[in-house]
Amino acid sequence: MKGVVAEEAASKAEQQIEVLNLPVNVGHRSRVQQILNTLKPSRAAFTSTPPWDKYPFSVDAHAKTRNDYHLDQIITAHEVNLKHALGGMVSEHRRITEERATKKLREREVELQENMSKNMELKELAAHYEAEKERVHDRVIYLEHVTESLQSLLREAVEARRYAETQQDDAESSFTDPDRVRPVKLECKVCEERVAMVMMWPCRHVCACVQCDAAVKECPACGSVKRTSVQLRLPS
Ligand SMILES: [Zn+2]
Ligand SMILES: [Zn+2]
Repeated sequence: MKGVVAEEAASKAEQQIEVLNLPVNVGHRSRVQQILNTLKPSRAAFTSTPPWDKYPFSVDAHAKTRNDYHLDQIITAHEVNLKHALGGMVSEHRRITEERATKKLREREVELQENMSKNMELKELAAHYEAEKERVHDRVIYLEHVTESLQSLLREAVEARRYAETQQDDAESSFTDPDRVRPVKLECKVCEERVAMVMMWPCRHVCACVQCDAAVKECPACGSVKRTSVQLRLPS
C-alpha cells in the first residue's frame, strides 16, 4: 500500500515538474531525482500509536480504521513533501530566469558601450576631415589670389614695356598716344639701384630687388607686414 501511494505521488510530482517547463539538463535531472527521493515516506511518520488502540473496537473495524489512519498520514506526509519540493522548483526556475535576464542585460550594456565608443570615433574622424576640408579650401582661395595678382603684374609689366617703347617713339616724333599708360618705376625701393623683381604679399607691391627682399619684413612701399613674397619672371 505504501509503495503504491508513493509511486502515485512521484508520478504527480513529475507531471507538475513537466508543467513548470524547465530546461532539461544534467543539473535539473539530478534536482528532480533529489525531489523524488524526498517524496519517499519516512518510517518516523508512522510510529505514533493511534488513539483508538485504547478503546474496545471489534478486530475488523479496528484494523480498517488503523489502515485508514495510516493512509491519511502517508497522504498528508506526501502532500507536505510535494508542496515543499514544488516550491523549491518554482524558486529555482525563477532564479534561473532572473540570472538569464541579468546576463542578457549585461550583454546589451556592453554592446551599447561599444556602439557609443564607435560613434565617438566616427565623430572625431568627421571633425578631422571637416577641418582638413576648411584648410584645403583656404589654401585654394590663397593660391587663386596669388595667381590673380601675378596676372595683373604681368599685364602691368607688359604695359610698362609698351610705355617705354612709346616714349622712344615720342622722342622720334611729336605724335602723342592717347592710350598711353602712366609710368611705373621699377627700381628697388630699398637700394634704389637694382630693378624691383619681387612682389610683396598680401599688399602686392613690386618694390624690392631679390637681394633686398631677403632682408625686409615689411613692404618698402606701403609698410604693411610681409607674409611672403614672389619673385617675378618677365617674358623675354
Ligand atoms: Zn634692392
Ligand atoms: Zn606694399
